[in-house]
Amino acid sequence: RKIIITIDGWSSCGKSTLAKELAAELNYIYVDSGAMYRAITLYFLRNHIDWTDLAAVHEAMQNVELEFVYNPAHCRSEMHLNGENVEYVIRDLVVAEKVSDVAAIKEVREFAVAQQQRMGNNRGIIMDGRDIGTVVFPDAELKIFMTADNAVRVERRFQELYKKNPNVTLEEVKNNLELRDYIDSHREVSPLRQAEDAIILDNTNLTPEEQFHKALKLAKE
Ligand code: C5P
Repeated sequence: RKIIITIDGWSSCGKSTLAKELAAELNYIYVDSGAMYRAITLYFLRNHIDWTDLAAVHEAMQNVELEFVYNPAHCRSEMHLNGENVEYVIRDLVVAEKVSDVAAIKEVREFAVAQQQRMGNNRGIIMDGRDIGTVVFPDAELKIFMTADNAVRVERRFQELYKKNPNVTLEEVKNNLELRDYIDSHREVSPLRQAEDAIILDNTNLTPEEQFHKALKLAKE
């Protein structure tokens, strides 16, 4: 029996790493909901959309088409924005610095959530994000809420970004994570919350393998 698994939590807790491993093991589809908010942010930045102007946001959203396209070379789905593969660019700090502001806009969330819910029409899906267990799939069979110590999260994300851009500093990464967590948990529309029926997974002291086996056990229960 295939189910829906949601993984929510703070930034850079390793949600996507865990989700990908589980999806591969269970033969499920993995959906990175954050990629959608990042792609919309990229569109707004490139087209100089003033997102404090709701009419401008409404008009811009008519021109945004998002699609996850499977890339067999990388064995994963990649985010396409209006037909362009943006999987790499959306990971830039430039996008990360604005994404939480864009993700706080009601119309942007309605757009993303509707598309995410359509993807859930078939069971056998693992989606990670901030509001998946609370808003997108409140009836999901398994909800995981991930957390880890701040310092651990900052270090992990720094290592990841540093590989791509050696100019990035620990301070920048730390500020960005704190800012996103603050905005994500304080916004008016579907703030980051732990669903009441979510199981907490704190991976501060877990190896990736330990974490994977814990989650896999939960998925098989
Ligand atoms: O998961 P990731 O860190 O790539 O998400 C980037 C940003 O997108 C988050 O900081 C948050 O502002 C937004 N987001 C959201 N709801 C989701 C997933 C991501 O608001 N379900």
